[in-house]
Amino acid sequence: MYEIEPALAVLYDSFRIMNHVCWQGSLPPCLLRLSHRLSPRTLAYAGTDFRIVFNAGHCQRIDDSDFLQIMAHEMIHIWQYTRGKRGGHGRDFRNEQLRLGLVLGREIPPDSPMGYVFFMHRLKDLHPAEAARKIAVHRNHRTYEADYFNQFTNKQNN
Ligand SMILES: [Zn+2]
Repeated sequence: MYEIEPALAVLYDSFRIMNHVCWQGSLPPCLLRLSHRLSPRTLAYAGTDFRIVFNAGHCQRIDDSDFLQIMAHEMIHIWQYTRGKRGGHGRDFRNEQLRLGLVLGREIPPDSPMGYVFFMHRLKDLHPAEAARKIAVHRNHRTYEADYFNQFTNKQNN
């Protein structure tokens, strides 16, 4: 019906795959948003109300690997919040990055959790960076993002 919904489905598929592979599905559902209002230096942020907001402008220039690494970074913050932590990039954050295979300046090992996340994306032919670009240009994306999330969480609770 609406072109934006399949694109939102792709983002949530990426979130679900990463949650399942990296945290055994233990992270709570998160609202995923694109924003045109973030500072150019902010790639994305994770709110303590369990939302992940991606910088729409930055998404214009990145590939799926970059996008998934940004999503993983923000999901580590969500993981911190679920443990009652404030966030930040301290030891708990860095240990989690290491565990997932996210070492700055190094290739992601295929046998790491993130390596498996990439494998799953190739297998399912999922392209979250392209999906993010489609969402960002839709003029009512804020409404669709919220509606899609509410549908998705209602389904989970049934
Ligand atoms: Zn961070």
